[in-house]
Order: sequence, then structure tokens, then C-alpha cells
Amino acid sequence: MKRLIRGGQVLLDDGLKACEVLFDEEQILAIAETIDAPDAEVIDASGLTVLPGLVDTHVHLREPGQEQKETIATGSMAAAHGGFTTVFAMPNVKPFPNDRKTMRDYLDLIAKDAVVTVWPFGTITRDEKGQEPSDYAGMKELGIRWFSDDGVGVADENVMRQAMLKAKEAGVLFSCHTEDMDYRKPGASVHQSAYADLMGWGGIPSACESAQLIRDMEIAGPLGLRYHGCHISAKESVEGIRKAKAAGWDVSAEVTAHHLLLEDRDVKGPNWKMNPPLRSHEDRMALIAALEDGTLDFIANDHAPHTRQDKNRPMAAAAFGIISLETSFPLLYTEFVHRQKRWTLAQLVGWMSRKPAERFGLEKVGRLAVGYHSDIVLADLQSERVIDKDTFLSKGRNTPFDGWTVYAGIRETIKNGRTVWKGK
Ligand SMILES: [Zn+2]
Repeated sequence: MKRLIRGGQVLLDDGLKACEVLFDEEQILAIAETIDAPDAEVIDASGLTVLPGLVDTHVHLREPGQEQKETIATGSMAAAHGGFTTVFAMPNVKPFPNDRKTMRDYLDLIAKDAVVTVWPFGTITRDEKGQEPSDYAGMKELGIRWFSDDGVGVADENVMRQAMLKAKEAGVLFSCHTEDMDYRKPGASVHQSAYADLMGWGGIPSACESAQLIRDMEIAGPLGLRYHGCHISAKESVEGIRKAKAAGWDVSAEVTAHHLLLEDRDVKGPNWKMNPPLRSHEDRMALIAALEDGTLDFIANDHAPHTRQDKNRPMAAAAFGIISLETSFPLLYTEFVHRQKRWTLAQLVGWMSRKPAERFGLEKVGRLAVGYHSDIVLADLQSERVIDKDTFLSKGRNTPFDGWTVYAGIRETIKNGRTVWKGK
């Protein structure tokens, strides 16, 4: 069925334009000032801004294995509610997708329940144990081209080298959570600093991330493997990525909304505890500058739902991670576009759609253009609202942003031409 969005401001490659968008389930058919399509269903976008569906390359959907935290159904509904039409699910589920068979089963679950596109990562090592490389070629036959052991780093350098050789041969991308556990003491939960000491919280030094990231890039770079660094938090990591890019290596990296918005001194309790932790003011400024100069490539949010019991514990024992799918776009828009006027809407949306789509090799995704998938979001940039965690469609409530005032609420999310979420 043909549908026509009328009356909105549409974000095109050359900025916002008052125009109309005609599409069906397959693709965007036309974009023009006025479109004559008498058979099309009209969607009134008066007062709204029309954006490409957002893409997040780092999401935890928890199913199969931890359905008390999130399911493919609730996580993908949360994605739609937050304006995301494509998300990548991290493979720390049970059973782990290690090979063709386990990935086939996982893809069947996704096909049954997801309301937006969910691309699963396969594991880098079997069961994320850091011992034996997974079957990349077997999973690639099912269309999977992205691999991660998110949640842990691959500690053994020789195992990582073998895995990277095998991945290079298969022509796939590694997306790595880097963490050298030699730097992380039991119970450590926040950035290592005088403030952490004052609060009596165990600290995680920046080298815990940057040392293994730099080691990884030094193996991947000369091999020519496509390497992506997850949730970069430390200025030392930014410096490492800058050098790797200057050397011509095929590396990229992501940064989360929370690392762009919050610092170690903002931490008030377990809902501010995530891995890697919120770091210093200097680190946060380095992340913002690195995103702006292209050292960091795009934004991905590490949506990490947990139950209340997982979080409602002393800092040292509480689970790492916060949810983000339903808050990241409004928060970033409000702070950096609306308040600071530091970024344009096009920049922010580019970092949350076109850039991740390009790096992860998704075709016809991440822009509003004729021939692209009909993944479209209507946002209300004008109205103010207060984030209320009890309105989330995620099962998680673990957010530090409850009660924040934001703009840019998502009014309607269209996936492959069909409305999958619509607000009042
Ligand atoms: Zn991670």
C-alpha cells in the first residue's frame, strides 16, 4: 500500500526541506515539494520533523536466556519507541550464536518477534570464553557479517590473532568490547579517581579499556581486518584510534549518549554504573571533540536492561549497564542541538543512522532518499516533555535519566512502510 507523508519538515542530505514523501513496503518512491498520489494513505506530519529511521549497532536484547531482563519483542518495541528501525543485538545470550546452527535458531526467534530489523552479532570466540574462534564463514552464509564478544575482551593475544586471521579470510567485521581484567579489581564499579576513593567505590582505570584496544588495533591494522571499537570512554583510547586511522588501518569506533552526557562526578548509584564507566570531564570533552573530528565514527548506545533486583544492590555488587533505546535521541538532541547549538540536526542524525549503516555495510538504509528502505521516523522537536521510566516499552527501568526534561519525542516509527509505533 502506498502512503504519503505530508506537511512535515523532511531531513534530506542537504538539510531540512518542507516536502512530501511517498513510499510503500519496499522503498521510498518519491520525495518532492508536492506529490500527486490520490490512492495513497496520507500521514499528516504538520509540525513534525521527518527523519530516517535510526540505527544502533550495540543493543542487548537478552533473549534467549535472560527473558526476565528483556525479550526480542520488548527490546525491539523499545527501539521503535526511541526512533530506531535497525538494531544490532549483542551475542551474549544463551545459547551463544557460535555457528550456523545456533545462529539459525536465533534468527528464527528474531523473525518471529522483532518489530524492527534486528541483526545479531555472532560471537568472536565460542561462548565468549576467549579460547576458540567461532565459525564466521558458517554464520556468514546466513548473512551475518559482524562478530563480537561484547561483555568481555579477548584476553589471550594469540587467540585474538587466530580469530582475526580467520575473520579476515571470511571478510567480516569485529566489533570489540576491550577490557584487560588485569586492571579491574573485584568490586570495581566506577572510573578510578579521587572522587571514587572519596565515595568508597572501587575504581576502573582507563588503561583497562585502552591497553587492549590498542593491542587489538595493532593486530587488526596490518592484517587489514575491519575492526570497530565499542563504547569508547577514555581519552587514551581516542588517541589510540587517532593513530590507527593515521596509519591507514581499517578501524572505526562508537561512543554512547551516556558517555557524551555524563561524567564520573555525576554518579549517584547503581543506575549510573555501566561498563566502561563514566569517566572524567577531560575524557568526556575528548569524546565530543573526537566525534566531531571523525576520530569516533558514530553513536551507539549499549542498551543494557537489567531487573530491579540486579540493580538494587550495593555499588560493588550491582549489575553493569543502563538502558538507552528510548532516551538517547531526545537527550542528545536536547543537549547538543537545542541547548548548546553545537551540532546540527543533520550531524546528529547522521551519527545515528547513515554513518553506522555505512560502516556495517547495510545497503539502502540510513537516509531519506528514493530507492531507500521505507524506514522513517516522525519526531516532535518543539514540545518539551519529562522522561518517565514507567512509560518505557523496555522491561528495563535502569536509567539515570528519569525526570530529565527533553525535546525531540518520537511520534511515529515506520518500518518497511508499516507503522510499528505511534504515540498520542
Ligand atoms: Zn560492552
